[in-house]
Amino acid sequence: MLVIGEVRDGEFRNVSFEALAAATTIAAGGEVVGAVIGNDASSLGKKMIAYGADRALTIENEQLKSYTPEGYAQAMYQVIQQENPDGIILGHTAIGRDLAPKLAARIGSGLVSDAVAIELAGDEVLFTRPIYSGKAFEKTVVKDGLIFATIRPNNIPALEKDEGRSGEVRALAVEVKDLQTVIKEVVKNTVSGVDLSEASIIIAGGRGMKGSENFQLLYDLAEVLGAAVGASRGACDADYCDYAMQIGQTGKVVTPDLYIAVGISGAIQHVAGMSSSKVIVAINKDPEAEIFQIADYGIVGDLFEVIPKLTEELKKV
Ligand code: FAD
Repeated sequence: MLVIGEVRDGEFRNVSFEALAAATTIAAGGEVVGAVIGNDASSLGKKMIAYGADRALTIENEQLKSYTPEGYAQAMYQVIQQENPDGIILGHTAIGRDLAPKLAARIGSGLVSDAVAIELAGDEVLFTRPIYSGKAFEKTVVKDGLIFATIRPNNIPALEKDEGRSGEVRALAVEVKDLQTVIKEVVKNTVSGVDLSEASIIIAGGRGMKGSENFQLLYDLAEVLGAAVGASRGACDADYCDYAMQIGQTGKVVTPDLYIAVGISGAIQHVAGMSSSKVIVAINKDPEAEIFQIADYGIVGDLFEVIPKLTEELKKV
């Protein structure tokens, strides 16, 4: 099994470790190989081994300093050709969603995307994945050929880190040519300190926040909880916050342990992006709001009263 790791700002995305755990399950005792592109590649390779890889292939290349679909696809295609794996797993992130179908098309394989669970049933591998915007789950079996899948972050637990594990870390030279895209500058959007797609607690504000300045209430609560702040499209459309914060069908899909929806009505397109959260708390002044239908806990009240009180109380804990 081959796991393609993903690095951001020099650090692995957590989903890469979750992908290693998924690959370990599927390999059922067989070899798990990690592949990663990034600077300080040898320490990245060692990290992959600590999280379950038996060996790691690392690529350091000037032309691959930033992600480009063609550059990464060329590099990882060469890894696949060399390794000839029986399966490939990567995170269902913005990069994974872009790269996996490109690679699958190039090697002529199918792709199971956005898996939230993996089980072995005899010789078969059973993937569970959400369909109809998360309203239902389907089980997909890969009967033969290469097992190629992306996994949704925060669903398959990573293995415990074990610095004592040993395995070969090998630098791999790849040839990257004729790139049509050149990244000249990466402009970072620092809308929230905690990465939404990997946050274990998310507080999301909707149109009920009534203004961008009121999002500060959510940031104050987020600071106490160590949470990330997200938003509905209603809030983004109203210019209360950046579209990078949008959660839902056309925004980010998140799976935190705790999702607090504040002043959000619960439209199906929003729910599509957060319904797999483990515990959902809704705060809304309308007792009929649809969000209460999927919430585990609900507070019917004015968010401008509830949120400051909640922040105050949680500060005491
Ligand atoms: P509203 O529906 O206006 O709800 C505001 C809520 O705030 C109400 O329930 C109200 O009772 C409550 N409220 C108001 N004041 C207070 C107060 N003082 N205290 C407590 N509660 C209060 N939406 C997304 O979120 N994500 C998507 O990715 C997305 N994709 C879409 C894709 C398509 C193709 C389409 C057509 C729509 C999409 N939408 C998406 C939009 C979606 O349909 C809704 O319009 C949007 O989610 C509504 O945002 P909202 O809940 O913040 O606003």
